[in-house]
Amino acid sequence: MTRNEFDLIRDYFARQPVKRRDVALGIGDDCALVEVPEGCQLVVTTDTLVEGTHFLPTASASDVAHKALASNLSDLAAMGAMPAWCSLALTLPEPDDAWVAGFCQGFAALAEHFQVQLIGGDTTRGPKSITITLHGHVPKGQALTRAGAKPGDWIFVTGTLGESQAGLDYILGKTVVDKARATTLINRHYRAQPRVTAGQALRGIASAAIDISDGLHADLTHILTASGVGAKVDVAQLPLSEALLADQASVEQAQKLALTSGEEYELCFTVPELHRGTLDTALKHSGVSVQCIGQITGNHRLELVADNQPLDWVLSGWDHFKEPHRDGS
Ligand code: ADP
Ligand code: MG
Repeated sequence: MTRNEFDLIRDYFARQPVKRRDVALGIGDDCALVEVPEGCQLVVTTDTLVEGTHFLPTASASDVAHKALASNLSDLAAMGAMPAWCSLALTLPEPDDAWVAGFCQGFAALAEHFQVQLIGGDTTRGPKSITITLHGHVPKGQALTRAGAKPGDWIFVTGTLGESQAGLDYILGKTVVDKARATTLINRHYRAQPRVTAGQALRGIASAAIDISDGLHADLTHILTASGVGAKVDVAQLPLSEALLADQASVEQAQKLALTSGEEYELCFTVPELHRGTLDTALKHSGVSVQCIGQITGNHRLELVADNQPLDWVLSGWDHFKEPHRDGS
C-alpha cells in the first residue's frame, strides 16, 4: 500500500463517533494516552479474526467488525469489567474502500453502544485479518476470574445456547431452514450481544466466570481446571430457544449443540448459595435471563446428567469452520 492509501484507511478510523473524556490523546500520534480511573485496575484483552478461519470470505465487512469487537467485549464482560478504549490492527490484501466503509459502520455501531473509543492501531498489507485490543477497567480486586468456584456453588448461563453453531451450519449450507428462522440464526452467529452489563452486575456475586467462545462444555471445563473443582450439569436445564428446537431433529441434538456451540458470547458463571437470592435483583437492569444448569462438585470431573441419570455423550468440539476450508471451498 502506498502512503496515500494508508492515510485514506486511517482517516476512516480517525472519524469515529465515540469521544471519551478520559482519552487525553487519541488517533494520530505515536501512542494514545488515557486516564485510568482512580482505584481501578486496567483490564486488557486481544482477539484476532483471520479470514477463512474465524470468518467466511462471504461475510459482510460490517458483520466481521461486529464479531471482532463483540468477542473482545465478551472477554471483558466475563471479568466484570467496564470497556473503555480499543486499538485495531487491520491487515488487508489491498486497500478496499467499500470494505473499510462497511467495517467502520459495523464497528462504530457497537463501539457507540458500549462507549468504546478507538484510540489507535496499525494498517498493513497481507491476508485479511483483524486484531482488536480492548482495554477497560474494574475496581481494584473485584474482577471476576475463572478461579474461585467452590463445591456447592450453583452454575448459571445467560441467554440461550446453540444458535451460533446452528447459524453457522445454515450459512455453510449444511442445513435448510425457513427464511424467518434463518435470519434469527444468522444474526445469532454474526451479531451476538456481549453481556457487558450482566458481567458488571455479577461482581461481588459470582465466584467465577467465563464467556462462552469455545462451547459451554469446553469453557466450563476451563473454570473447573482453574478452580480445582468438578461439576454436575443437568442437560434438561440447558436454555434452548424455540428457533433452535424447531431447527434440530431432536431435543437431544439441540442439547448437544448447546454444550458445544462456540462463539455464543454468553456468560457461564458460578454463584455461592449465600448470593443466590440476590442474583435476580442484581441482573434486573441488564435485561438478560439466566438459567441454573447445575452445581460445582469436589470430584474434578464434568458430569452430564438427565433426570439424575449419568450420560455418556461424546461431544464434538467447536472448530470454527476449518473443515470446509481445507479443500479451499
Ligand atoms: P506509526 O508508524 O507511528 O505506527 P501509523 O501511520 O501506523 O503510524 O499510524 C498513525 C496513527 O494512526 C497512529 O496514531 C495509529 O494509532 C493510527 N492508526 C493506524 N492504523 C489504524 C487503524 N487501523 N485503526 C485505528 N487507528 C489507526
Ligand atoms: Mg503503525
